Amino acid sequence: MENRILGLHHITAIANNAKRNLDFYTQVLGVRLVKKTVNFDDPGTYHFYFGNENGTPGTILTFFPWEGIGQGTNGSGLATHIGYAVQKGSLEFWKKRLDQFNVKTQENEIFGEKMIRFNDPDGLQLQFIEAPEDNRKVWTTEEIKEENALKGFHNVTLTLRKADPTLKVLTDILGYDLQKQEGNRFRVATDAIETANLVDIIEDSTIPAGRNAAGTNHHIAFRVKDDTILMEYREKVLAAGLSITPKIDRDYFYSLYFREPGGVLFEIATDNPGFTVDEPLNELGTHLKLPKQYEGVRGKIEGVLPKLS
Ligand code: ZN
Repeated sequence: MENRILGLHHITAIANNAKRNLDFYTQVLGVRLVKKTVNFDDPGTYHFYFGNENGTPGTILTFFPWEGIGQGTNGSGLATHIGYAVQKGSLEFWKKRLDQFNVKTQENEIFGEKMIRFNDPDGLQLQFIEAPEDNRKVWTTEEIKEENALKGFHNVTLTLRKADPTLKVLTDILGYDLQKQEGNRFRVATDAIETANLVDIIEDSTIPAGRNAAGTNHHIAFRVKDDTILMEYREKVLAAGLSITPKIDRDYFYSLYFREPGGVLFEIATDNPGFTVDEPLNELGTHLKLPKQYEGVRGKIEGVLPKLS
């Protein structure tokens, strides 16, 4: 059981303006800023991590806010919809709240689950889905109490020209099972964990390729317990004939990246060491944390990062 993929670890997307992104997620949606750091490959850009109180894998949505990057297009080859689980009965609260912030919502139902869908300020497509029993510890704010707070991910939806090659990666390598299919929509699930354990696929051979910029997904990361198991998955991906990176130290987890045949960038990431490795739980997200290779030029980096207040 323990050496399996434990659902989603995090999802990373692209934004334009850093302050607008930060304010929307922490103030309007009320998720916790769990880590404020920089893009390790581009340290003049922030990397924000939003999640629940403990920064539990499966609740973490992260952003690279690249000012002036321009608008991306959602389309095939991308994770196009990010689904958060909310408690049953809370969709009314969210419809009213989002309306107050001039965010248009639409009601929908997918695989029998009630949801609202809307776009974040950059056009990233979010879904709040009434999920069954979900006991994850939430982050609350003055305005968003426990009964309405976001639980973390329910699912993520990939839009693909052809579902089969990607389904094969999910089932044969990552240990998911095909659970449902309605028309051109597929759902795979893993029983290795109870939450953030679903991936949906929309198959549409006519849909134009997505363009990766603001308002689109950068990659999705699957979760494993530690870096020993991570390296077992590296062998499995290689054995399937796909290319994959060496192990990369992301300070808060260890990672591997590979592109699945449908074009979506997949990552596998570990629980260890976690977000409390460099600041205590009650201070998560309050300090600008830099990887050690940039600590020597902190002043310079702080000078070029966009203003957040
Ligand atoms: Zn990642």
